[in-house]
Amino acid sequence: MAHKTWEVTKTEYCDHVGHEIDIEAEVVYPAEHLPDQPPRIQAHRCSNALECNLIDKSACIYCGTNPNHNPM
Ligand code: SF4
Repeated sequence: MAHKTWEVTKTEYCDHVGHEIDIEAEVVYPAEHLPDQPPRIQAHRCSNALECNLIDKSACIYCGTNPNHNPM
């Protein structure tokens, strides 16, 4: 059975919040009987996305409120 997990891909300073955040990727690893398939990345998210969504302004693609802004 395939296995999904969130992994930190990089740590960066974000100007919007004024501190470092982690960018995470949802990685899908293939089932054991398909060992030749590479892992796939399905989505990205920011470790600070919940806090950014509480602010009453659109932020960026990593919290889903502004698809036109990528701060990284
Ligand atoms: S969600 Fe976007 S704006 Fe908010 S801290 Fe993360 S990268 Fe910065």
